[in-house]
Amino acid sequence: MSVLEIFNKVRSEGRKALTEVESKKVLSIYGIPVTKLGVAKSVDKAVSLAREIGFPVAMKILSPDILHKSDVGGVMLNIGCEEEVEKAYKKIIENVLKHKPDARIEGVVVQEMAPMGREIIIGAIRDVSFGPVLMFGLGGIFVEVLNDVSFKLIPITVEEAYEMIDEIKSAPLLKGYRGAPPADIKALVDTLLKVSNMVSELEEHISEMDLNPIFLYEEGKGLKVVDARIILS
Ligand code: ADP
Ligand code: MG
Repeated sequence: MSVLEIFNKVRSEGRKALTEVESKKVLSIYGIPVTKLGVAKSVDKAVSLAREIGFPVAMKILSPDILHKSDVGGVMLNIGCEEEVEKAYKKIIENVLKHKPDARIEGVVVQEMAPMGREIIIGAIRDVSFGPVLMFGLGGIFVEVLNDVSFKLIPITVEEAYEMIDEIKSAPLLKGYRGAPPADIKALVDTLLKVSNMVSELEEHISEMDLNPIFLYEEGKGLKVVDARIILS
């Protein structure tokens, strides 16, 4: 499916928020690295997907009615073998039905377990007077507690991508601090530019997007989008 086909499908169902699977599909069309994934509607399919993807895997609920998947017990990580996939599949559906009995369940997403990296966030919002704005910060407490984020108007230039990184107070944590190896800044700049380009091309459609978290690895090792959400206007 093309990006516009995905958007039309979402609209035709009366939704504005793309699911994680739909959001990651759009990102991958724009060349942004996301976790490998597949959707299972049965235990058997979940097992065969996990085998294909390779253990360990992460499994998550797929429902247009659930935005915060962990809040309803809809995320299970580090699943190491086929028996665990079976258990996780049943447990996730049980958890979700307990927390939100009326949620439409479209299946369970089986995805590669991304190795730990530095957590970052890239987002975009639409400002009523300035148009689309790109946001960048480190994940977790850096954004939630310290509000350590930078903003630029979309589209950004390469120089502005580097500035966005330098402008946050926690930037030294990315550049190699007390013996920690530097993060893959090139991959980060590349992704900031791709997100900017994507939002700029799809400006009339996208009202908001949130890539949270992205795991950023050491120099040369790139990054991976672990969770994503796009909201249509
Ligand atoms: P939520 O809808 O609750 O935000 P997420 O998809 O963000 O759900 O999952 C919650 C957390 O689980 C993430 O912030 C991340 O730390 C971890 N996680 C989710 N998916 C993966 C994955 N594929 N690999 C590694 N960690 C993951
Ligand atoms: Mg998340």
